[in-house]
Amino acid sequence: MSALSTQDPELFAMVKAEEAYQKSTIRLIASENYVSKAVLEASGSVFANKYSEGYPGARYYQGQINCDAVERLAIERAKKLFGAEHVNVQPYSGSPANLAVYFAFCQPGDTILGLNLSHGGHLTHGSKVSLTGKWLNAVHYSLNPETGLLDYDEIRKLALEHRPKVLIAGHSAYPRQLDFAKFRAIADECGAILFVDMAHFAGLVAGGAHPNPVPYADVVTTTTHKTLRGPRGAMILCKEKHAKAIDKAVFPGLQGGPHNSTTAAIATALREALLPEFKTYAANTVKNAQVLAAALVKRGFNLVSGGTDNHLMLIDLNNKNVSGKVAAVALEKAGLVLNYNTVPGETRKASDPSGIRLGTPSVTSRGFGAAEMEKIAEWMDRTLQSVEDEAALLKINAEVSALCAKFPVPGLD
Ligand SMILES: *Cc1c(COP(=O)(O)O)cnc(C)c1O
Repeated sequence: MSALSTQDPELFAMVKAEEAYQKSTIRLIASENYVSKAVLEASGSVFANKYSEGYPGARYYQGQINCDAVERLAIERAKKLFGAEHVNVQPYSGSPANLAVYFAFCQPGDTILGLNLSHGGHLTHGSKVSLTGKWLNAVHYSLNPETGLLDYDEIRKLALEHRPKVLIAGHSAYPRQLDFAKFRAIADECGAILFVDMAHFAGLVAGGAHPNPVPYADVVTTTTHKTLRGPRGAMILCKEKHAKAIDKAVFPGLQGGPHNSTTAAIATALREALLPEFKTYAANTVKNAQVLAAALVKRGFNLVSGGTDNHLMLIDLNNKNVSGKVAAVALEKAGLVLNYNTVPGETRKASDPSGIRLGTPSVTSRGFGAAEMEKIAEWMDRTLQSVEDEAALLKINAEVSALCAKFPVPGLD
């Protein structure tokens, strides 16, 4: 970064500080990851200089020979990776991708049915504070309070009662796999479009560690920056019969020109996801989550649904006498970065809820294994017993940095 360092030393110092931070802390945010050097290079390439409204071969600007090639490459790789009939790689991020799906299939006031936000759903699945909850009639299903699992009988009952235009499967904080055949059957029975939002677990699908929703769903959206380990962006995968409606909803419906440098970085991230090593990455991500979950349960942590079979865990801290916010702040001081989160049956406010969410995509990208998962559980336990003891938190932070120093950071080292 020789130009940045000489021309804007103030910003350069911030980039360096963030690099050091990402090296010396343990990143347990379930939605974050480390991209490769190749993805970083493509993200910062000259494709950032281009405007390309339209689609390959049908642009509203001249000079698209290379942009068309890049977008076609990203589309072909995504089709191959997920077995999709049609792919749109232009959505700016996961939320706009979801808006495009509603724009393609719904009129204002139409009914959608998705997972409750406080049970692991996403804002864009019809939360009251989201445009999706204001402009559409959103109905929500919940987790079973006893098991912490999806209740497919309840989903079916709500679907038949409310007859949603769109049935949504997918989540930001559900630690279990989804049964897409069951969702498909419910959608067929009530005449809904089945929309799967695999933003969180797309990398596990790509690596064969989670069932693939693409054969079942009318339309699937995903971010590219979570378990998929690409740049910040999104894709929509759909059946050929919906291709026109989806493409029109993205452009000109919602967006102007695509971010071509992001498209380039998505293309190269998809190349990585097609390699045999990515299967190992996906399997290790789940294995690490399960080792960490077991180590936390052993220490008395209350995991929603009792454990995990994907990359994430949701912990209800009510039995630990500490709120999610207080826990997350103390853990950050100890060098363990995660987020506070609402839990099913939440009784506190969203800005200081009862739980924390954590995941293993980043630490697995870094090469952490079972031994490191045991250490993380031990550090989390010690931290929550000393949330007000600054000296104890600093001591844990030193131990965390010492471990991190032994593991190179993808894209940086
Ligand atoms: C992260 C996420 C999104 C939104 O992604 P952004 O890129 O932050 O807009 C959408 N849906 C689900 C389920 C997610 O987890």
